[in-house]
This record gives sequence, structure tokens and C-alpha cells, in this order.
Amino acid sequence: MKQDNFDELLRRSGLKNTKTRSAILEILEKSEQPVTAEQVFLELKNKQISANLSTVYRTLETLAEKMLAKKLNISGDSRAMFEYNRLVHRHYLVCLECKKIIPIDFCPIKNYEKTLEEKTKFKIAGHKLDVYGYCPDCQNKIQE
Ligand SMILES: [Zn+2]
Ligand SMILES: [Zn+2]
Repeated sequence: MKQDNFDELLRRSGLKNTKTRSAILEILEKSEQPVTAEQVFLELKNKQISANLSTVYRTLETLAEKMLAKKLNISGDSRAMFEYNRLVHRHYLVCLECKKIIPIDFCPIKNYEKTLEEKTKFKIAGHKLDVYGYCPDCQNKIQE
């Protein structure tokens, strides 16, 4: 996405466009995986943009509040992770060993929601599902 689009996104969300904010949005957008505040902080450093870790954290929180980013709280891990809000519904595979998080595009619950609504008369608003296990790298390490 072009830099102008990030400016536009920030302005539409009522946020002032700062170099740090648009740079953080760009980092989130380019990243295939959810990232921690520390990772964003290091990326900014690579781009020669100076911001301290607490500013990065606050900015991520603000972006999440404005729905420009999504904050993920994966249970069992105290670090919050953030990803660009692509407005798609996603589930994650989480490695219990190295804490790697891999998005899954497929949602196995969607059809089941309809069945549940019919059965229970609930109006279902959403669901959360994360799948835990050990990634191939960690399986190899464990076997060694
Ligand atoms: Zn792993
Ligand atoms: Zn789902």
C-alpha cells in the first residue's frame, strides 16, 4: 500500500498523521504474521525512525482502538500481538514451543454457527478459535 493511503486511513480515523504512526501501519501491513511491540520497535529502528518502546506500544493500542489494527491475546502468552486489520476473519495455529503464530484462512465454524443458531435460537455474534501444537521445527528439536 502506498504511503498516501496510510495518511488517508489515519485521517479518516480521526488520528493525526505522524511519521511514527504511518510507519507502524506500514510495518503491520507488510508483515505476514502478527507482531509484538518489540518487533515493531526493531523494525522502526531499521528504518531509522526513532521512537521508544512505550510510544510504539501506545501507538499500537491506539491503532487497535481505532480498528486499524487488531490486538490478539493468545492465551498462554503474556505478550500482546498486533496485526493489520484486513477485515478478514481469521484463526491461528500457535506453536507452544517457539510461540510462532500462523494464520489459517479457513474457518471451520462458520457453517456450524448457523446450525447452532437454529438449535439454540441464539443470535451468534462471533467466535474465537486458536489451534495449539508444535511446529515442524520444534518437533525436530524435541526428537533430537
Ligand atoms: Zn515451534
Ligand atoms: Zn471462524
